[in-house]
Amino acid sequence: MFEEASILKLKDVRYSWPGRFSFGLTVPEFDLTSGETVLLLGESGSGKSTLLSLICGTVSAQFGMVSVSGTDIASLSAGERDRFRAEQIGLIFQQFNLLPYASVLDNILLPLDFAPERRSRVNTPKEEAKQLCQDLGLPRDVIDARAGTLSVGQQQRVATARALIGQPPLIIADEPTSALDAATQTTFLKLLFAQSKAHSTTLLMVSHDARLADQFDRVVQMSDISQVERQSA
Ligand code: ADP
Ligand code: MG
Repeated sequence: MFEEASILKLKDVRYSWPGRFSFGLTVPEFDLTSGETVLLLGESGSGKSTLLSLICGTVSAQFGMVSVSGTDIASLSAGERDRFRAEQIGLIFQQFNLLPYASVLDNILLPLDFAPERRSRVNTPKEEAKQLCQDLGLPRDVIDARAGTLSVGQQQRVATARALIGQPPLIIADEPTSALDAATQTTFLKLLFAQSKAHSTTLLMVSHDARLADQFDRVVQMSDISQVERQSA
């Protein structure tokens, strides 16, 4: 039933936020093939972040199936789902969600605490974190700085290193370039692609910026894969 090359499968998914019946998202079908880079485009409020929350299992679909790496995430308990997410998915949020008072190193290594398989792929944590920083165009010695003291562009790279460490099979990025200027955006995307190609990671990035389209293997419009019900309250 689950194709070998598929990393993500959504089937007949329906979701509405509790208490907010004015917004309902339906996704009949959405698949990602292992190793591809996909840009998901859609206007603000079209449910992009909601869809990512469904994929990550931070919210559960009221109907339908969300399957990551062959596991139907509805079959997992809440605790299992948290560990599964940490193992399978590297997350880059719009606001980065770094711990500002913790060091860059501690921020990068954080997901490994919840993901033994990911941790087992990291033999020398500090060295690998330093290497990721270097690959992402940060100075290696940035590792000891407090995350909150870095520039926005630098923090975005740290958030990216945190998503990439231990090579989770799926990287999900929610409008990660929205806080960056155009030049930094391009550099950042190049580095992200190089890293995901090096480890044949699947990349799903969400944006409302169609200008990024030609840099991805595939572009998906939110309106092509979903129906949104909007009722005035
Ligand atoms: P996008 O990311 O495409 O801008 P969202 O998924 O954030 O869209 O939002 C889609 C709809 O869901 C909006 O109407 C928004 O207000 C609502 N929504 C998003 N997050 C929440 C939440 N945590 N609780 C309740 N409603 C939410
Ligand atoms: Mg959003």
